[in-house]
Amino acid sequence: MQLSIWEKESFYAPKDIIIVGGGLTGLWSAYFLKKKYPRLSVALVDRGLIPTGASTRNAGFATFGSLTELAHDAQVMGEDRMLQVVEMRYRGLKRIADTFRKKDIDFSITGGYEMITPYHPVSTRELNEKIAYINSALFPILKKEKTFALANHKIRRFGLQETTDLVENAFEGSLHSGKLCMALLQKVQSLGVLTLNQIAVEGYEKTGEGIVLHNQQGLQLVAQKVLICTNAFVKSLLPTLAVTPARGQILLTAPIRGLKIRGAFHSDEGYIYFRNLGDRLLLGGARNKALEEETTETMDISPAIQQALEAFLNRYILPGIPYTITDRWSGIMGHGPEKTPIVKKIEEQVYCAVRMSGIGVAITPIIGEQAAELIMQ
Ligand SMILES: Cc1cc2nc3c(=O)[nH]c(=O)nc-3n(C[C@H](O)[C@H](O)[C@H](O)COP(=O)(O)OP(=O)(O)OC[C@H]3O[C@@H](n4cnc5c(N)ncnc54)[C@H](O)[C@@H]3O)c2cc1C
Repeated sequence: MQLSIWEKESFYAPKDIIIVGGGLTGLWSAYFLKKKYPRLSVALVDRGLIPTGASTRNAGFATFGSLTELAHDAQVMGEDRMLQVVEMRYRGLKRIADTFRKKDIDFSITGGYEMITPYHPVSTRELNEKIAYINSALFPILKKEKTFALANHKIRRFGLQETTDLVENAFEGSLHSGKLCMALLQKVQSLGVLTLNQIAVEGYEKTGEGIVLHNQQGLQLVAQKVLICTNAFVKSLLPTLAVTPARGQILLTAPIRGLKIRGAFHSDEGYIYFRNLGDRLLLGGARNKALEEETTETMDISPAIQQALEAFLNRYILPGIPYTITDRWSGIMGHGPEKTPIVKKIEEQVYCAVRMSGIGVAITPIIGEQAAELIMQ
């Protein structure tokens, strides 16, 4: 198909900036670019009909990390890096709460919990040591004496089985990931960002006119600067970056009469997560039960992981309680050797903001702002 002059001079006209990838990172980057530089022409390009990676397919936890996960991260990444990531997540959650009306994105601070079970045992003594250590490490950021505290008196209230200890984080909550993405998309469009969907970018080339984005659709896409926000899928465009796709699978039950679970729950150092969605139970994770198979970009579900999730559900959360599973899906996270995102200039006129890891919702507003600043330096 040949383009008309009208198309060439509007939708496909050269832009100041094209952002590739319309998930939360791309959306927040577009938001801050247009907020700070309203005169810039910005287009946001995604290969999906809607953003199709992690942002609309996650579990909707508004979290900055569970206790044992943060303790583990401190060991692997070092305490400073762990705190740096927590600080970004905490500020990011505030940013989300300040940008939207909570009811528009179902954002509520429900309280978060981590359940300790024989599935991944931790002794009470060790747990108390971790609580003391993480609470004091987080104090300069959160200014709270007791971010995490034992809440074993609530184990029965939630109907949890074989739970040796329960740790509460009163500052955690949940949101509606689809409503958040839609609301942010509408904000970005209202600021004048052009959104183009179903365009799969395959590579880029520097020319005298700017950066030309080669795409499967053969459309003319040229910009002075390009920001790549394709997270788990970045390797096809920037093969040397240390980003690995990590699939996360989820199941959701039909409403369960008398469901006792209320809030956002973690277990197994963050590998298991569940929450209520009204009277439905959403459960995800167990990726560590088949790590190799789950290192994939294929957005599918697998019997091994779904069975592992159901086994956890039957044993620890809903033993003897009848339920029906209505939905199962997966999304792809961008992981790396550590949980810090990559925001950097790749070369003159080309930038990236990727690797949002498993707790990315909270971090994307901060990374979007950083990326916008970096591009405009
Ligand atoms: C199952 C699961 C559960 C999760 N649960 C939570 C949670 O509860 N809380 C939390 O904070 N985080 C959670 N996360 C992580 C969080 O969702 C992500 O970190 C975050 O959404 C990443 O956003 P992003 O925009 O960087 O990436 P994505 O949302 O993956 O966006 C990347 C976009 O790039 C597009 N794209 C890819 N390649 C191309 C190309 N070549 N051309 C054009 N477009 C392209 C894709 O279509 C996609 O829309 C979860 C993730 C998963 C998968």
